[in-house]
Amino acid sequence: NIRKVNENYFGSYSSFGIHKEMISDKVRTEAYRDALLKNPTLLSGSVVMDVGCGTGILSLFAAQAGASRVIAVEASEKMAKVATKIAKDNRVFHDNEHNGVLEVAHSMVEELEKSIKIQPHSVDVLVSEWMGYCLLYESMLSSVLYARDRWLKPGGAILPDTATMFVAGFGKGATSLLFWEDVYGFDMSSIGKEIFEDTARIPVVDVVEERDLVTQPALLQAFDLATMKPDEVDFTATATLEPNESEAKMSLCHGVVLWFDAGFTNRFCKENPTVLSTSPYTPPTHWSQTVLTFKEPISVAPATLLSGGDDRRGAIGTVECPAARIHLRVSVARASEHRSIDISLEATGVSSK
Ligand code: SAH
Repeated sequence: NIRKVNENYFGSYSSFGIHKEMISDKVRTEAYRDALLKNPTLLSGSVVMDVGCGTGILSLFAAQAGASRVIAVEASEKMAKVATKIAKDNRVFHDNEHNGVLEVAHSMVEELEKSIKIQPHSVDVLVSEWMGYCLLYESMLSSVLYARDRWLKPGGAILPDTATMFVAGFGKGATSLLFWEDVYGFDMSSIGKEIFEDTARIPVVDVVEERDLVTQPALLQAFDLATMKPDEVDFTATATLEPNESEAKMSLCHGVVLWFDAGFTNRFCKENPTVLSTSPYTPPTHWSQTVLTFKEPISVAPATLLSGGDDRRGAIGTVECPAARIHLRVSVARASEHRSIDISLEATGVSSK
């Protein structure tokens, strides 16, 4: 029953806590603010559409940046009301009685023509914060692409315009194993093992720190939001995880962590391109990272030259040890459940020169 699921989905956004969490995420909100305020050539005098405006924060930035018309679209009735009040309180609201630039449409973006007057292909800049956990979980990407194809001018800007998924391998420190091994001196590792077995079946949203990574990052999938088709969200990608050079010896990789970057590239943000990164190398965001645990750990090691003993002539011989790396195959598919995704992972250890 799609309708019921939809009501729950938009109902979940009606609580203010999630909006506070998103707005308080400075990495997220400031990337959007920089893209909108620091690219005046793109924004000033433009027609902007904000897909899923929530409180209206991105629309307020667009109005501040000098847009001539900002259409803030919001499916949740409560949030559309809130966004209207906020736009009025900040003196940018537009309707028959108010002459600001920001109009709020309470509508699914897919049904927008029922609530406001708008010509197809009349929008200069489409902005949306649509990204979900692991980029695609519960993401509104398909709604954004729908809005792009219906309302954006040919060659119009979409912000962000790229979304890229990355993957890296992590060691024991990023798992629950270490924590439960020593609890005030007691061995509670059975709990750790149970959690480990659970997380080997389902992806988990968790923070992974750079120091827990045992491989270098690899690109998994890159989306071009200006050109991609909605069904490209389903993909199978392969990647090779190279061990960190600093892993002096063999180390165990217990699983992989996935994250994404959203790019406001110089294609549209010519003056000040910017990137919103949710990686383990950069300050944390409310997305954290997504963790997938292997059933069994896989060894990784950088290629090394080991000095052997003296040969008969007294010279030091060397033995080359091949690198041990990991081949990954990751498939992401939209699940039948509303806006959910299925992720499958195959990982094999490979030893080669
Ligand atoms: N832009 C705001 C809120 C982002 S959360 C900010 O950056 O803080 C995403 C919002 O999009 C939610 O409020 C949700 O209700 C709305 N939304 C999701 N799908 C939508 C759709 N198809 N049409 C209109 N609004 C949608």
